[in-house]
Parts: sequence; C-alpha cells; structure tokens
Amino acid sequence: MKFYCDEMLARVGRWLRTAGYNTKIASNALSDRIMLEQAINEGRLLLSRDRKLAEFRMAKDIVVLLDCNDFNECIKEITERLRINWLYRPFSRCINCNSELVHANVMQLEKVPEDFKKFAKKIWYCQHCDQVYWPGGHMKRMQTKLQDFTGYSL
Ligand SMILES: [Zn+2]
Repeated sequence: MKFYCDEMLARVGRWLRTAGYNTKIASNALSDRIMLEQAINEGRLLLSRDRKLAEFRMAKDIVVLLDCNDFNECIKEITERLRINWLYRPFSRCINCNSELVHANVMQLEKVPEDFKKFAKKIWYCQHCDQVYWPGGHMKRMQTKLQDFTGYSL
C-alpha cells in the first residue's frame, strides 16, 4: 500500500514513513487536480480531510476521505479503516524525504555518538538527506509511539 497525504496530514504522513510505508506528502499549493493525477500515476491512496477533493470524478477509489479532527483521531481512523500495521517496517524509510534507508557505512558511522557505534547493524543512513539514524533516545521514543498506535487497532 502506497500513500499520498495532503499538506494538512503531513504529520500523519511522516508517521506512515516511520512505520515504513511509502508515503508522499503534498508540497504547498498543489492543485487538487494535480494531486489526484499524481496519486493515480503513482498508484497511491490519497488521504485527505478535504471534501472537495473527494468530489472529483477521478477521486473514486483513490481518495480516502477522513473524518478525524486532530492528529490522534486521524491515526486511529487510518489504523481502523486502512488496517495500518505500525510495526510494518519501522525505520526503513527516511521521515523527511521517504527514501529507503541503507546501512550506514564507516564514514557515516563517524557522525554517530560513540556509545551507539556498537549498534552498527541498526544504524541507517538516508543518501538523499545525508542523515544518519541511530537507535538513540529519539528513535526509542518513536518506537514507543508506533507501539501505542498499534494499540488503536485492538
Ligand atoms: Zn531523506
């Protein structure tokens, strides 16, 4: 399942990336029609709270119109309706750009705090953003969140 989040759902989109789902996030001021065309061309479900978007003829089977009013509600709603598995492939994609992460090489490991270098197999790198991800406090907090979201499907 591949997703496309409109700008209002950017935060939800970043969490879908955290869980490992291929998720595009709309940049500012894209027209509804262009977003729809991109979603169709790339085989993505377009998540939105915008009713107008769902009224386009080509929105059928493409737009998932959400009723949620805040972040947690949206997470709950997509967990239930789309059966999102928040532990699908955690930390396999860059949260910022959606690229697939690769194992950090020796050079990239230089950027990691000394204490974490022993976890080399769990240290990931985004070639696009030149960002290293290591299992420190921030990643642990995100892992906990993913587990919380998983509870929403029970
Ligand atoms: Zn990136």
